[in-house]
Amino acid sequence: MILRKEGRPSGNGPTPETRRLVLERDRYKCVRCGRSLMAVRYSIHHRRLRSHPFAGLHEACNLISLCGSGTQLCHGWVHDHPREAMENGWIVSGFNPHPEQVPVKTTRGLMLLDAGGGVTPARAER
Ligand SMILES: [Zn+2]
Repeated sequence: MILRKEGRPSGNGPTPETRRLVLERDRYKCVRCGRSLMAVRYSIHHRRLRSHPFAGLHEACNLISLCGSGTQLCHGWVHDHPREAMENGWIVSGFNPHPEQVPVKTTRGLMLLDAGGGVTPARAER
């Protein structure tokens, strides 16, 4: 797989393989509230939003599991509170092509996500 950091995303959404990687990485729980996704509607959220496409748009490091849809529960909350969401890494600036470098607040602590579906604890900055 070629990882381009500039240019356009391939495809209209994450591949089934990437979706599986993201859900397994997040242990089938909402990253924001920790709710199990087995019993509720959930969605895969793009941290750098789909409205700001880039080559890494559909890579695991740009994706998190959230309960709800784009208008409900945590997924809805993130889109309704972009400033707070950005402070927590749930949204990444539309100018930043490196979501893998932006820590994400999770119920397991502050984490860095990589394109391969890996997750590592992030050191608190500043
Ligand atoms: Zn949630």
